[in-house]
Amino acid sequence: MQLPEHVKIREVGPRDGFQNEPEVIATGDKVALIDELTQTGLTHIEITSFVRADVIPQLADGAEVLQRMQRREGVTVGVLIPNQRGLENALEQADRFDEASLFLSASETHNMKNVNRTIEQSLAGLSEVVTTARAAGKRCVAVISTSFGCPYEGHVDPARVFEIAQELAGFGVEEIGLADTTGMANPAQVAEIFAAAPTKLPGIEITAHFHNTRGQGTANVLAALQAGCASFESSFGELGGCPFPPGSTGNVATEDIVSMLHEMGVQTGIDLEKYVAVSRHAQAVIGRSLGSHVLRAGPVEWGGTGR
Ligand code: ZN
Repeated sequence: MQLPEHVKIREVGPRDGFQNEPEVIATGDKVALIDELTQTGLTHIEITSFVRADVIPQLADGAEVLQRMQRREGVTVGVLIPNQRGLENALEQADRFDEASLFLSASETHNMKNVNRTIEQSLAGLSEVVTTARAAGKRCVAVISTSFGCPYEGHVDPARVFEIAQELAGFGVEEIGLADTTGMANPAQVAEIFAAAPTKLPGIEITAHFHNTRGQGTANVLAALQAGCASFESSFGELGGCPFPPGSTGNVATEDIVSMLHEMGVQTGIDLEKYVAVSRHAQAVIGRSLGSHVLRAGPVEWGGTGR
Protein backbone atom coordinates (compact mmCIF):
# COMPACT_ATOMS: atom_id res chain seq x y z
CA MET A 1 0.00 0.00 0.00
CA GLN A 2 1.46 3.37 -1.05
CA LEU A 3 0.64 5.87 1.68
CA PRO A 4 2.03 9.32 2.52
CA GLU A 5 4.39 9.50 5.50
CA HIS A 6 2.59 12.44 7.03
CA VAL A 7 -0.85 13.98 6.65
CA LYS A 8 -2.35 17.26 7.79
CA ILE A 9 -5.31 17.16 10.13
CA ARG A 10 -7.57 20.19 10.16
CA GLU A 11 -9.65 20.19 13.34
CA VAL A 12 -13.09 21.71 12.72
CA GLY A 13 -14.87 20.65 15.94
CA PRO A 14 -15.02 24.10 17.56
CA ARG A 15 -16.88 25.40 14.50
CA ASP A 16 -18.57 22.54 12.62
CA GLY A 17 -19.05 20.61 15.86
CA PHE A 18 -20.25 23.27 18.29
CA GLN A 19 -22.44 24.84 15.59
CA ASN A 20 -24.69 21.80 15.58
CA GLU A 21 -25.07 21.48 19.37
CA PRO A 22 -28.60 22.38 20.49
CA GLU A 23 -27.57 23.62 23.98
CA VAL A 24 -25.47 26.79 24.07
CA ILE A 25 -21.90 26.05 25.16
CA ALA A 26 -20.38 28.72 27.43
CA THR A 27 -17.70 30.86 25.80
CA GLY A 28 -15.23 29.96 28.57
CA ASP A 29 -15.74 26.24 27.89
CA LYS A 30 -15.18 26.75 24.16
CA VAL A 31 -11.98 28.71 24.78
CA ALA A 32 -10.71 26.09 27.27
CA LEU A 33 -11.36 23.24 24.80
CA ILE A 34 -9.69 25.13 21.94
CA ASP A 35 -6.66 25.88 24.14
CA GLU A 36 -6.44 22.19 25.05
CA LEU A 37 -6.72 21.14 21.40
CA THR A 38 -3.87 23.44 20.38
CA GLN A 39 -1.60 21.69 22.89
CA THR A 40 -2.00 18.23 21.36
CA GLY A 41 0.39 18.67 18.44
CA LEU A 42 -2.43 19.74 16.15
CA THR A 43 -1.28 22.22 13.48
CA HIS A 44 -4.59 23.47 12.03
CA ILE A 45 -7.81 24.42 13.77
CA GLU A 46 -11.01 26.17 12.68
CA ILE A 47 -12.26 27.90 15.79
CA THR A 48 -15.52 29.63 14.92
CA SER A 49 -17.65 31.27 12.26
CA PHE A 50 -18.37 34.93 11.54
CA VAL A 51 -21.86 34.13 10.40
CA ARG A 52 -24.66 36.45 11.63
CA ALA A 53 -25.59 35.79 15.27
CA ASP A 54 -29.29 35.28 14.47
CA VAL A 55 -28.41 32.61 11.87
CA ILE A 56 -26.27 30.48 14.22
CA PRO A 57 -26.80 31.68 17.83
CA GLN A 58 -24.33 29.03 19.09
CA LEU A 59 -21.46 30.88 17.39
CA ALA A 60 -22.62 34.40 18.27
CA ASP A 61 -19.54 34.65 20.52
CA GLY A 62 -17.13 34.07 17.61
CA ALA A 63 -15.30 37.38 18.02
CA GLU A 64 -14.85 36.79 21.75
CA VAL A 65 -13.59 33.22 21.24
CA LEU A 66 -11.09 34.50 18.69
CA GLN A 67 -9.93 37.20 21.07
CA ARG A 68 -9.62 34.95 24.12
CA MET A 69 -8.04 31.79 22.71
CA GLN A 70 -4.29 31.44 23.10
CA ARG A 71 -2.22 31.83 19.97
CA ARG A 72 0.40 29.10 19.78
CA GLU A 73 3.37 28.93 17.49
CA GLY A 74 2.96 26.28 14.81
CA VAL A 75 -0.85 26.29 15.01
CA THR A 76 -2.68 27.81 12.06
CA VAL A 77 -5.99 29.35 13.14
CA GLY A 78 -8.90 29.46 10.72
CA VAL A 79 -12.31 31.10 10.92
CA LEU A 80 -15.34 30.39 8.76
CA ILE A 81 -16.32 33.41 6.69
CA PRO A 82 -19.81 33.41 5.12
CA ASN A 83 -19.59 36.71 3.23
CA GLN A 84 -17.88 40.09 2.94
CA ARG A 85 -19.56 41.45 6.08
CA GLY A 86 -18.33 38.43 8.08
CA LEU A 87 -14.84 38.94 6.75
CA GLU A 88 -14.85 42.61 7.73
CA ASN A 89 -15.89 41.63 11.27
CA ALA A 90 -13.15 39.01 11.48
CA LEU A 91 -10.54 41.40 10.15
CA GLU A 92 -11.14 43.65 13.17
CA GLN A 93 -8.87 41.06 14.83
CA ALA A 94 -6.70 40.44 11.82
CA ASP A 95 -3.66 39.40 13.87
CA ARG A 96 -5.64 36.64 15.62
CA PHE A 97 -6.17 34.31 12.66
CA ASP A 98 -4.33 33.04 9.59
CA GLU A 99 -6.90 31.45 7.31
CA ALA A 100 -10.34 32.32 5.96
CA SER A 101 -12.51 29.26 5.36
CA LEU A 102 -15.19 29.80 2.74
CA PHE A 103 -18.01 27.53 1.64
CA LEU A 104 -20.69 26.85 -0.91
CA SER A 105 -22.49 23.74 -2.16
CA ALA A 106 -22.06 21.78 -5.36
CA SER A 107 -25.83 21.32 -5.71
CA GLU A 108 -28.18 24.26 -6.38
CA THR A 109 -30.90 23.10 -3.99
CA HIS A 110 -28.52 22.61 -1.05
CA ASN A 111 -26.86 25.96 -1.70
CA MET A 112 -30.22 27.72 -1.91
CA LYS A 113 -31.48 26.11 1.32
CA ASN A 114 -28.17 26.83 3.09
CA VAL A 115 -27.36 30.39 2.03
CA ASN A 116 -30.40 31.43 -0.07
CA ARG A 117 -28.25 32.05 -3.14
CA THR A 118 -27.65 30.32 -6.44
CA ILE A 119 -24.18 28.83 -6.91
CA GLU A 120 -23.37 31.64 -9.36
CA GLN A 121 -24.36 34.23 -6.76
CA SER A 122 -22.24 32.46 -4.12
CA LEU A 123 -19.24 32.37 -6.45
CA ALA A 124 -19.57 36.08 -7.23
CA GLY A 125 -19.64 36.88 -3.50
CA LEU A 126 -16.71 34.59 -2.75
CA SER A 127 -14.62 36.21 -5.46
CA GLU A 128 -14.86 39.50 -3.57
CA VAL A 129 -14.21 37.83 -0.19
CA VAL A 130 -11.09 36.06 -1.49
CA THR A 131 -9.70 39.29 -2.95
CA THR A 132 -10.18 41.15 0.34
CA ALA A 133 -8.88 38.28 2.49
CA ARG A 134 -5.76 37.84 0.39
CA ALA A 135 -5.09 41.57 0.42
CA ALA A 136 -5.16 41.28 4.23
CA GLY A 137 -2.60 38.46 4.07
CA LYS A 138 -5.01 35.60 4.79
CA ARG A 139 -4.72 32.20 3.18
CA CYS A 140 -8.06 31.13 1.67
CA VAL A 141 -9.55 27.66 1.94
CA ALA A 142 -12.86 26.90 0.24
CA VAL A 143 -14.97 23.89 1.14
CA ILE A 144 -17.48 22.58 -1.39
CA SER A 145 -20.42 20.98 0.43
CA THR A 146 -22.39 18.07 -1.04
CA SER A 147 -19.44 17.18 -3.32
CA PHE A 148 -20.35 13.48 -3.16
CA GLY A 149 -24.14 13.66 -3.14
CA CYS A 150 -26.98 15.96 -2.17
CA PRO A 151 -29.86 15.05 0.18
CA TYR A 152 -32.28 16.93 -2.13
CA GLU A 153 -30.88 16.26 -5.61
CA GLY A 154 -29.14 12.91 -5.13
CA HIS A 155 -26.18 12.32 -7.44
CA VAL A 156 -23.76 15.23 -7.88
CA ASP A 157 -21.73 15.20 -11.08
CA PRO A 158 -17.97 15.28 -10.26
CA ALA A 159 -17.50 17.42 -13.39
CA ARG A 160 -19.67 20.10 -11.75
CA VAL A 161 -17.66 19.87 -8.51
CA PHE A 162 -14.40 20.39 -10.40
CA GLU A 163 -15.91 23.24 -12.42
CA ILE A 164 -16.79 25.08 -9.19
CA ALA A 165 -13.38 24.23 -7.70
CA GLN A 166 -11.58 25.59 -10.76
CA GLU A 167 -13.48 28.85 -10.48
CA LEU A 168 -12.49 29.13 -6.82
CA ALA A 169 -8.87 28.38 -7.70
CA GLY A 170 -9.07 31.17 -10.27
CA PHE A 171 -10.05 33.62 -7.49
CA GLY A 172 -6.83 32.76 -5.62
CA VAL A 173 -8.03 30.11 -3.17
CA GLU A 174 -5.01 28.03 -2.08
CA GLU A 175 -6.82 24.98 -0.73
CA ILE A 176 -10.10 23.30 -1.64
CA GLY A 177 -12.01 20.91 0.58
CA LEU A 178 -14.38 18.38 -0.91
CA ALA A 179 -17.07 17.73 1.68
CA ASP A 180 -19.45 14.84 2.08
CA THR A 181 -21.89 17.01 4.01
CA THR A 182 -24.58 14.40 4.67
CA GLY A 183 -22.49 11.23 4.56
CA MET A 184 -23.46 9.95 1.12
CA ALA A 185 -19.96 9.15 -0.22
CA ASN A 186 -18.65 5.63 -0.77
CA PRO A 187 -14.97 4.62 -1.00
CA ALA A 188 -15.04 3.78 -4.74
CA GLN A 189 -16.46 7.20 -5.58
CA VAL A 190 -13.99 8.90 -3.23
CA ALA A 191 -11.03 7.08 -4.82
CA GLU A 192 -12.13 8.18 -8.29
CA ILE A 193 -12.62 11.85 -7.39
CA PHE A 194 -9.40 12.22 -5.37
CA ALA A 195 -7.36 10.44 -8.04
CA ALA A 196 -8.65 12.95 -10.61
CA ALA A 197 -8.23 16.03 -8.40
CA PRO A 198 -4.50 16.83 -8.90
CA THR A 199 -4.91 16.97 -12.69
CA LYS A 200 -8.10 19.01 -12.49
CA LEU A 201 -6.72 21.39 -9.88
CA PRO A 202 -2.96 21.72 -10.36
CA GLY A 203 -1.14 23.52 -7.55
CA ILE A 204 -4.16 23.42 -5.24
CA GLU A 205 -4.03 21.57 -1.94
CA ILE A 206 -6.98 19.18 -1.76
CA THR A 207 -8.62 18.35 1.56
CA ALA A 208 -11.19 15.69 2.35
CA HIS A 209 -14.08 16.37 4.73
CA PHE A 210 -16.09 13.26 5.50
CA HIS A 211 -19.07 12.60 7.71
CA ASN A 212 -19.77 9.35 9.47
CA THR A 213 -23.52 9.53 8.91
CA ARG A 214 -23.68 6.02 7.45
CA GLY A 215 -20.58 4.61 9.15
CA GLN A 216 -18.33 4.99 6.10
CA GLY A 217 -16.20 7.87 7.37
CA THR A 218 -12.92 6.05 8.00
CA ALA A 219 -13.34 3.88 4.90
CA ASN A 220 -13.64 7.07 2.88
CA VAL A 221 -10.57 8.54 4.59
CA LEU A 222 -8.58 5.45 3.60
CA ALA A 223 -9.85 5.63 0.01
CA ALA A 224 -8.86 9.31 -0.27
CA LEU A 225 -5.49 8.62 1.36
CA GLN A 226 -4.71 5.84 -1.11
CA ALA A 227 -5.69 8.17 -3.95
CA GLY A 228 -3.07 10.67 -2.75
CA CYS A 229 -5.02 12.98 -0.44
CA ALA A 230 -2.87 14.18 2.48
CA SER A 231 -5.17 16.66 4.23
CA PHE A 232 -8.28 15.80 6.24
CA GLU A 233 -10.89 17.76 8.13
CA SER A 234 -12.36 16.10 11.19
CA SER A 235 -13.94 16.89 14.49
CA PHE A 236 -12.95 15.82 18.01
CA GLY A 237 -15.46 13.47 19.62
CA GLU A 238 -17.26 13.11 16.25
CA LEU A 239 -19.05 16.35 17.01
CA GLY A 240 -20.90 18.16 14.28
CA GLY A 241 -22.53 17.30 11.07
CA CYS A 242 -25.48 18.53 9.17
CA PRO A 243 -28.68 17.87 11.15
CA PHE A 244 -30.19 16.24 8.07
CA PRO A 245 -31.57 13.64 8.10
CA PRO A 246 -32.61 14.33 11.71
CA GLY A 247 -30.47 12.44 14.21
CA SER A 248 -27.52 12.14 11.85
CA THR A 249 -24.09 11.79 13.37
CA GLY A 250 -21.25 14.11 12.69
CA ASN A 251 -17.93 14.59 11.03
CA VAL A 252 -15.50 11.71 11.28
CA ALA A 253 -13.88 11.83 14.73
CA THR A 254 -10.36 13.23 14.70
CA GLU A 255 -9.18 10.64 17.24
CA ASP A 256 -10.66 7.79 15.16
CA ILE A 257 -8.80 8.78 12.00
CA VAL A 258 -5.60 9.74 13.86
CA SER A 259 -5.64 6.31 15.50
CA MET A 260 -6.11 4.58 12.16
CA LEU A 261 -3.39 6.65 10.48
CA HIS A 262 -0.85 6.12 13.27
CA GLU A 263 -1.50 2.38 13.31
CA MET A 264 -0.77 2.35 9.55
CA GLY A 265 2.48 4.27 10.06
CA VAL A 266 1.16 7.60 8.74
CA GLN A 267 2.15 10.46 11.05
CA THR A 268 -0.04 13.42 12.04
CA GLY A 269 2.05 15.04 14.78
CA ILE A 270 -0.88 14.62 17.16
CA ASP A 271 -0.52 13.11 20.64
CA LEU A 272 -3.51 10.76 20.62
CA GLU A 273 -3.62 10.32 24.38
CA LYS A 274 -3.86 14.08 24.89
CA TYR A 275 -6.48 14.29 22.16
CA VAL A 276 -8.70 11.69 23.78
CA ALA A 277 -8.44 13.62 27.04
CA VAL A 278 -9.76 16.75 25.29
CA SER A 279 -12.65 14.79 23.79
CA ARG A 280 -13.46 13.45 27.24
CA HIS A 281 -13.51 17.00 28.51
CA ALA A 282 -15.83 17.98 25.62
CA GLN A 283 -18.11 15.08 26.51
CA ALA A 284 -18.30 16.35 30.09
CA VAL A 285 -19.02 19.92 28.93
CA ILE A 286 -21.73 18.82 26.49
CA GLY A 287 -23.20 16.31 28.90
CA ARG A 288 -23.81 13.35 26.64
CA SER A 289 -21.83 10.48 25.08
CA LEU A 290 -20.11 11.48 21.87
CA GLY A 291 -19.85 9.27 18.78
CA SER A 292 -16.08 8.71 18.62
CA HIS A 293 -15.05 5.06 18.87
CA VAL A 294 -11.53 5.69 20.18
CA LEU A 295 -13.01 7.90 22.88
CA ARG A 296 -14.97 4.89 24.14
CA ALA A 297 -12.43 2.10 23.57
CA GLY A 298 -9.21 4.03 24.13
CA PRO A 299 -6.19 4.11 21.78
CA VAL A 300 -4.90 0.73 20.55
CA GLU A 301 -1.77 0.98 22.68
CA TRP A 302 -3.92 0.99 25.79
CA GLY A 303 -5.05 -2.52 24.86
CA GLY A 304 -8.31 -3.54 26.44
CA THR A 305 -7.70 -1.60 29.61
CA GLY A 306 -9.96 1.28 28.58
CA ARG A 307 -7.93 3.45 31.01
ZN1 ZN B 1 -18.76 18.63 8.46
